[in-house]
Amino acid sequence: MSEALNIPGWRHTYSGKVRDLYVPEDSADARLLVVASDRVSAFDFVLEPGIPEKGALLTHLSRWWFAQLEDVPNHLAEGEIPDVVADRAMLAMSLDMLPVECVVRGYLTGSGWLEYQASGTVCGIPLPAGLTDGDRLPEPLFTPAYKAPMGEHDENISFEKTVELVGAERAAQLRDASLAIYTRAAAIAEAKGLILADTKFEFGLDSDGVLRLADEVLTSDSSRYWDAAAWATGTTPAERMASFDKQIVRNWLAAHWDKQGTPPVLPDEIVAQTAARYRELIERLTA
Ligand code: ATP
Ligand code: MG
Repeated sequence: MSEALNIPGWRHTYSGKVRDLYVPEDSADARLLVVASDRVSAFDFVLEPGIPEKGALLTHLSRWWFAQLEDVPNHLAEGEIPDVVADRAMLAMSLDMLPVECVVRGYLTGSGWLEYQASGTVCGIPLPAGLTDGDRLPEPLFTPAYKAPMGEHDENISFEKTVELVGAERAAQLRDASLAIYTRAAAIAEAKGLILADTKFEFGLDSDGVLRLADEVLTSDSSRYWDAAAWATGTTPAERMASFDKQIVRNWLAAHWDKQGTPPVLPDEIVAQTAARYRELIERLTA
């Protein structure tokens, strides 16, 4: 799945499902080049084909959000981005990443909705009875996931498990930072007629031990965005959750695949629709 490029001065070091990482050939340079590809993943599988321009769109959106959150320490580093990847790469500090995906949910859907139906809880947190798919939660919840090593699936974990992984103080810091950033971002989205239903942050520590917001932020890969007007008037889940994100891909895949073997190739119209919605999100949010 790697599309390692020949970038003068940089050496390919890692490919995730969506991003390719490069380190400087100069080993004294502690920066990282994070290149977003057009690959799309769902249920932790990389799908075919990619979504045209996705890497550039998500990089643009991450940068925009880092700028909105300028007082939150982040991983962006100074320097020139190589021309070949100028529109889809970020220069970042190479951080010591924490093994927790910091998910915040303001609305009930996805794996949260599945757990709620089974047990009335989300990540072990009890919720009021009678909620339905797409409902707003009484308050935003921090629902962490363990960032599984490559090839394994991330799993939802309790706050207690987060404490076991990173310690009590760090776990509380991650929770508080995640909830605060979500609340700010949701208000910014709301002013543009968008609901930020949920999102996932990743944090890492720099060489001075400072906690920094890393990876991509508040993109349509890492978040669910819905149209606020459609949510308010819609009656079916599909109408309420008119999404500007990867949900289009997840929904199609869930309806056409039993998660065994190789996923089917995405049809052209799903690819085109996803690309169009990603562009529309950026237009609406950043206008
Ligand atoms: P996996 O790591 O399991 O492959 P993924 O499929 O989510 O996860 P991508 O998102 O495609 O991976 O790749 C980005 C990778 O870069 C992630 O592992 C992420 O944690 C890591 N990363 C992001 N920002 C930084 C940073 N500043 N320093 C170090 N690693 C980072
Ligand atoms: Mg990732």
